[in-house]
Amino acid sequence: MLNADQTIALFEGLRRAQSNGRYAPHKPLLVLLALARIQRGDARLVPFADVDKPLQNLLAEFGPSGSAKSRHYPYWHLDRALWQVNGPATLVNRALGATPNLSELRQDGVQAGFAPEVDAALRAQPDLLVRVAQRVLDAYFPPTLHADIAAVVGLDLSPPTPEVRENAAPAYGAGAKRARSARFREQVLLAYEHRCCVCGFDLRIGNVSAGLEAAHIQWHTAGGPDVEPNGLSLCALHHKLFDLGAFTLEPGDLRIVFSRHAIAGSKGLSGELKHHGQPLLRPQSPDLLPGPEFIEWNQHNVFKTPARV
Ligand SMILES: [Zn+2]
Repeated sequence: MLNADQTIALFEGLRRAQSNGRYAPHKPLLVLLALARIQRGDARLVPFADVDKPLQNLLAEFGPSGSAKSRHYPYWHLDRALWQVNGPATLVNRALGATPNLSELRQDGVQAGFAPEVDAALRAQPDLLVRVAQRVLDAYFPPTLHADIAAVVGLDLSPPTPEVRENAAPAYGAGAKRARSARFREQVLLAYEHRCCVCGFDLRIGNVSAGLEAAHIQWHTAGGPDVEPNGLSLCALHHKLFDLGAFTLEPGDLRIVFSRHAIAGSKGLSGELKHHGQPLLRPQSPDLLPGPEFIEWNQHNVFKTPARV
């Protein structure tokens, strides 16, 4: 089996390609999507149709304008020592320069994934997978975007054996490491109609939500499940404040409660603290409402008590 150095060496071509100053995030984004699939335990080979939409969205959000149009390039052009394309002989035996078009790649039987020995090495060494992912992120994207990209592709960049908090709910705690679900973000944002449920922030760039995130009420690292009742759609600022314990929710009426430790200056009551005591903007349907057990976990483990009156 490939060892860590050999595996990392195969991914180095990506870093070298980046060093000429051109910004083309296609290959790294496909690689990160594929790494997330391995981390989730998905099959090695993936039909193009299954990565088409995710790649389109990733490039729309993190790529230069118009880059989504060429989203299929890396599926074909990734280094064949690293990446294998299977399909009809007329397709796979083509010259590398003759890039198939979208409909050719969508036809039945076209599948691609990491080469078998790369796939095996990454599955056998989860810490190596995270190192590779981090190197790809470091090579291509500013640190401010790493967490966002990882969340969208569904990669868990935390150490492979995270400490689970003692009072994590046992029903979900079980210790098994679960990959962060990209679907979680989508589901939670949809539940709240792509707006921050605290302040209503709903900026879009084109048709992609900008600066909006899905927060876990009970942290993922503490066994919080990837389901809507454990999620809040929050703008980046409120996500950070929520994770810092500056505010939480009242389980009964879902009012926003700020901590007494959260102090603002003269503009406090007209600024950030104006949300204190306000009701949470509701999700589309009552079955998506925050679960009391998750709110309780958050109050005990994250919120900076005591609450403001
Ligand atoms: Zn907000």
